[in-house]
Amino acid sequence: MGREHLIKPVLDHPYPTIQYGKGVFLYDEQGKAYLDASSGAVTAGIGHGVQDIIDAMMEQASKVSFVYRSQFTSEPAEKLAKKLSDLAPGGDYWSFFVNSGSEATETAMKIAIQHWQEKGRFGKNKVISRRMSYHGITMGALSMSGHVLRRRRFIPLLEDFPVVAPAYCYRCPLNAASCKLACADDLETAIKRIGAEHIAAFIAEPIVGAAGGAIVPPAGYFKKIKEICERYEILFIADEVMTGIARTGEMFGMQHEGVEPDLIALGKGLSAGYTPMAATLVKDHVMAPILQGSKSIMAGHTYSANPQSAAISLAVLDYVNKHQLAESARSMGAYLLDKLRLMAEGIEIIGDVRGRGLLLALEFVRNRDDKTMFPPAAGITSRIIDTAFQKGLLVYPAAGAVDGAGDAIIVAPPLVITEAEADQLVQLLEEAIREVADELSR
Ligand code: PLP
Repeated sequence: MGREHLIKPVLDHPYPTIQYGKGVFLYDEQGKAYLDASSGAVTAGIGHGVQDIIDAMMEQASKVSFVYRSQFTSEPAEKLAKKLSDLAPGGDYWSFFVNSGSEATETAMKIAIQHWQEKGRFGKNKVISRRMSYHGITMGALSMSGHVLRRRRFIPLLEDFPVVAPAYCYRCPLNAASCKLACADDLETAIKRIGAEHIAAFIAEPIVGAAGGAIVPPAGYFKKIKEICERYEILFIADEVMTGIARTGEMFGMQHEGVEPDLIALGKGLSAGYTPMAATLVKDHVMAPILQGSKSIMAGHTYSANPQSAAISLAVLDYVNKHQLAESARSMGAYLLDKLRLMAEGIEIIGDVRGRGLLLALEFVRNRDDKTMFPPAAGITSRIIDTAFQKGLLVYPAAGAVDGAGDAIIVAPPLVITEAEADQLVQLLEEAIREVADELSR
């Protein structure tokens, strides 16, 4: 009912209608079960239908759901800001609440630019990002994204921000024979070319998600990046929209790197899909000139910091803490990675199995030895994703074979997944991949 009026990602695709979710499973109106091995869009970190969250939702709704942020603050928003500051690398962060990851990165960009303006440095207004990156779909966020497919239609409207090499070891963009972190040096080369006086910030995902598929940087990469940023007075924005809130085995992906970003964008796992919620975290020293200057940040939305979403996110953080889900992401991530690697040994078209915690990916190749990709027309990832879907398994696409990226799918189930569910996941995925591999070999 009403289906024909709903704008869906692919308008004529027969999406099933979902009825309810429980744990790592979703059930459609025909009663078919789907093992959610992608947590939706790497979002449902604590699983579906968690009663603690429903209780927190009801409790806050019985008090007040919405107040306008220019008139009031609220206890849940204040508590959430304090909790995030305590959890984030090195502490001392302020929180600006928004509704989506795109708004979180775009707000980070605006705050970074404002920071320099308050210091009288008006020329510092470009943001450097990396090829094969995704920071969101709004114009500012898209301007910072190296995601060729999502940018394509809007290129004339986007800011022409500079991009540097990704840290993509499986296909080193600099063809380095041995790793001396040349991909990090590429940032310095770009800064020298453009002039640090024009650059407000550098933005990167701790682990590349949608634009490449769980690409973990080489050890020391982000330490070097941060050191370059500091040397040239450029703020470092960590886009933790996908990696944040225990997904990689630490609360923040940057904690694996021992780096304290100047700004952090959070989304997805912050509310685990129970409400639209995202945040831009801003280090005290970035706020300082704004506090001494205009005392107001030129960003925000009607629903920013609404008490309902803040209360839900607080309940999600409590749940993550109470059930030690960062630890689960580490142990179940290791379990699943082992199983996927074992599975991959027998399937020639799997070129790489990678990731950290429960943010994992498989990259597909036509030839494992020379890593030749399939031609785009083969539609390898969409065929595997569709076949898995038919079997009741949800996996997530990474950008396929564009701008240097290979064909990859992301495997990122809720952090509450059990070993038996992980085994079922691997079995269904293996069946789907083998089916597509067989079709390709005919
Ligand atoms: N940043 C990263 C790293 C993401 O993965 C995404 C979404 O996939 C975004 C930003 C945009 O978030 P949203 O879709 O909530 O706007």
